[in-house]
Amino acid sequence: MTGEPCDKCEQLLQGYLDRALTHDEVAEAEMHLDGCDFCRRRYRFETNLRMYVRTTAAERMPPGLLQKLSELRGVETS
Ligand SMILES: [Zn+2]
Repeated sequence: MTGEPCDKCEQLLQGYLDRALTHDEVAEAEMHLDGCDFCRRRYRFETNLRMYVRTTAAERMPPGLLQKLSELRGVETS
């Protein structure tokens, strides 16, 4: 099966992004990212989003930013 979100990675990636994993779990996450397209895309998206939020948070929050972030996440706002 390809292109399916994996629930296991959901946990793994969150911990990985939050740096809340043990050394072994980090290795496991990285190994998985190496072989799973879905998680790799997801991981890239989350890191970009976090970087974007961190950069813009230092300045005044531009109007419409929250909506833009929602769109990036693919959330319906209306
Ligand atoms: Zn995966």
